[in-house]
Amino acid sequence: MNISGKTKICGLIGDPVEHTMSPVMHNAAFDKLSLDYAYLPFRVKPEELPQAVSGLKALNATGFNVTIPHKVAVIPLLDELDPLAEKIGAVNTVVNDNGVLKGYNTDASGFLQALLEREVEPKSMNIVLLGAGGAARAIAYILSEWNARLTILNRREELDWAKAIAANIRKDLGKDIEVFELLPAHLAAALEPADILVNATSVGMSPNSGISPVPAQLMKSGLVVVDIVYNPVRTKLLQDAAAAGAVTVEGLDMLVWQGALAFEKWTGKKPPFDLMKEVALSELEKNEK
Ligand code: NAP
Repeated sequence: MNISGKTKICGLIGDPVEHTMSPVMHNAAFDKLSLDYAYLPFRVKPEELPQAVSGLKALNATGFNVTIPHKVAVIPLLDELDPLAEKIGAVNTVVNDNGVLKGYNTDASGFLQALLEREVEPKSMNIVLLGAGGAARAIAYILSEWNARLTILNRREELDWAKAIAANIRKDLGKDIEVFELLPAHLAAALEPADILVNATSVGMSPNSGISPVPAQLMKSGLVVVDIVYNPVRTKLLQDAAAAGAVTVEGLDMLVWQGALAFEKWTGKKPPFDLMKEVALSELEKNEK
């Protein structure tokens, strides 16, 4: 990468940012397409978010990603919001259009793209979604927009969160979502008619990679199982699903798609998806050692 006086800057703001895959994905893609861009990670503490956002604008950055814990707090600092990001209430990608900062949510569209790429259409499907955190909320919105029939299961302590997501979607989109506590009996009942299971909890994520949010005996062939956890790439949930003959979709696909969609917004170019996936995978393997 040659930094010149004309190099355009993209980046990531979050805290922490040490383990992010985004710099390797984007810089490899810029190189591949010979684009004079560079992507940098910036650790930004919550109390310094306003200065960081106006700083990136003043420095004329082309755009940036936003990660935990800033995806919601960044919204009032932006000039415009894409309607999907507005409904979800979270932003992970910002485009700087000549000093006008516009926020998008490519976590949601990246998740959808990962399904469509595997020829899984959520329309009218029975979908069981585990979790009610930031990612689950984005996924619940986009699946509802696609007319999926959703059941959300979450831990008891935060069940109100899941109910709030369902209430918002009912208000915005007029779709009914069933909400239950994440218990084996509820899981078994919800999975009976399910076409797709999505894990949007952090259960199974490294270093606790030996556990799954779903008992292995509930897996069945004909089910599509999506785990948005990408570290490890083959989670226990996906291993159990594959052993039962289910179709599996890895969280790495969603991760790369959210990056690829951001790349396209910043550069206007079609991203080299396979290369981005390859470098993200090798970075993940490096982190696992
Ligand atoms: P978050 O906002 O912190 O939400 C975490 C969710 O996991 C909450 O619903 C939480 O339940 C649930 N949870 C945590 N521990 C649990 C346990 N032991 N049993 C049951 N539920 C549990 O995090 P997030 O941003 O939504 O991310 C969730 C996961 O998705 C993370 O592993 C993250 O790395 C991954 N992710 C992947 C992508 C991708 O592109 N592939 C994108 C975003 C996130 P409570 O509500 O009860 O706390």
